[in-house]
Amino acid sequence: MKIAMIGTGYVGLVSGVCFSDFGHEVVCVDKNPEKVAQLKRGEVPIYEPGLDVLMARNVAAGRLSFTEKLAPAVAGADAVFIAVGTPTRRGDGHADLSYVFAAAEEIAEALDGFTVVVTKSTVPVGTNRKVYEIIARTCAEGSFDVASNPEFLREGAAIDDFMRPDRVVVGVETDRAREVMGDIYRPLFLRDFPIVYTDLESAETIKYAANAFLATKITFINEIAMLCERVGADIKAVSKGMGLDGRIGNKFLHAGPGYGGSCFPKDTKALARIGQDFAVPLQITETVIAVNEEMKRRMIEKLKDLCGGSFNGKVVAVLGVTFKPNTDDMREAPSLTIVPALVGGGAEVRLVDPQGRREGEALLPGVAWEDDPYAAAKGADVLVLLTEWNEFRALDLSRVAGEMRTAQMADLRNIYSAEDARAAGFEAYICVGRPDAT
Ligand code: NAD
Repeated sequence: MKIAMIGTGYVGLVSGVCFSDFGHEVVCVDKNPEKVAQLKRGEVPIYEPGLDVLMARNVAAGRLSFTEKLAPAVAGADAVFIAVGTPTRRGDGHADLSYVFAAAEEIAEALDGFTVVVTKSTVPVGTNRKVYEIIARTCAEGSFDVASNPEFLREGAAIDDFMRPDRVVVGVETDRAREVMGDIYRPLFLRDFPIVYTDLESAETIKYAANAFLATKITFINEIAMLCERVGADIKAVSKGMGLDGRIGNKFLHAGPGYGGSCFPKDTKALARIGQDFAVPLQITETVIAVNEEMKRRMIEKLKDLCGGSFNGKVVAVLGVTFKPNTDDMREAPSLTIVPALVGGGAEVRLVDPQGRREGEALLPGVAWEDDPYAAAKGADVLVLLTEWNEFRALDLSRVAGEMRTAQMADLRNIYSAEDARAAGFEAYICVGRPDAT
């Protein structure tokens, strides 16, 4: 199959590379000339484990290429995937569809022979029909079709998720489009995974409903963690006891500083707007958004309490700024709320992150960057564990405590325990949803 992938971000690049690894001929298109130049040099513009090797292998095999020019990539393709961003529109929480529609217009000009235009971006209900209308202004009926194929990969584990998905969702209207989509995903059939064919509206809804459900699960356990702190329960034990129930499951039950990232915040907001637009208020989703904001604010209060009521003059070392480990993505990361509050409150802030510095430098002004947690801890009053990178999971806590001016830890990912901290010489240890040790 010949595939054009429009957009080479986290989703487009991973999808394009993986499709080429299936054996398809893939041209990845991006309008950002710097990105394309990097890709042509064999450099991966994002950090995603394993992507560099897989990309190099498929470029070498002649199945994968990169270009800024959309028209030649689209002409003659069996399928064109739209994988451009759908960020939150400023002001109203809606998904900004301008990139999707602009791509659809450009694609319409370039189509040549029957092609399925597939939306992989996360888009509100009704968008695929609008994409159809846009293309139909230029192309004759029957010369193209649309399909909705939302993506569920997780950054940091994206290749494995793409190659071994729990399911693939495909919204189609015609047998012809269904056949093309079946051919594209056929190489995965060997692994016996379910492909869920639906109508366009259901496919669009599945993506938002799935993300909102996961965000709800995280927010639920975060709220229970707040209760645990008051009643003297331990959220880790509570999560374990709940998660072993097969109806609940143990995933997404880890208490922390509130969800962030490129998807949950924007997708929950967009879903809430969709509900309002259709006069079906989605009260659970709306509450999840509000409670998650509250969680981030609570983390700042916790840190302030640990600092004796003020950040002024304190030296704070923050481990982890990306929204989760194994990615360089900083979009809506809790660090973007917490670090400015520390800096604004008069703290001297040092940051360490294995991959976050490149993005983080522009987003988090007024801080110092260190490469090593022990260097960051030198002379510090508080160590904040904000992203659970493997590098921060097995610290020599005695050494960390020994470096600090006041050995205090805020473990916002519950990696260590009060006993570990006390034994290492910390005078204070706070975490989320478990008894503090001070
Ligand atoms: P991204 O911002 O990382 O990448 C988007 C890319 O599209 C950019 O490189 C941009 O230059 C390019 N682009 C925009 N308009 C273009 C055009 N007209 N022609 C060519 N290139 C164009 O975005 P992302 O994180 O990959 O997300 C893409 C979509 O996938 C979003 O709708 C998102 O919600 C969804 N999604 C993301 C994830 C994730 O983990 N990041 C997971 C599932 C779904």
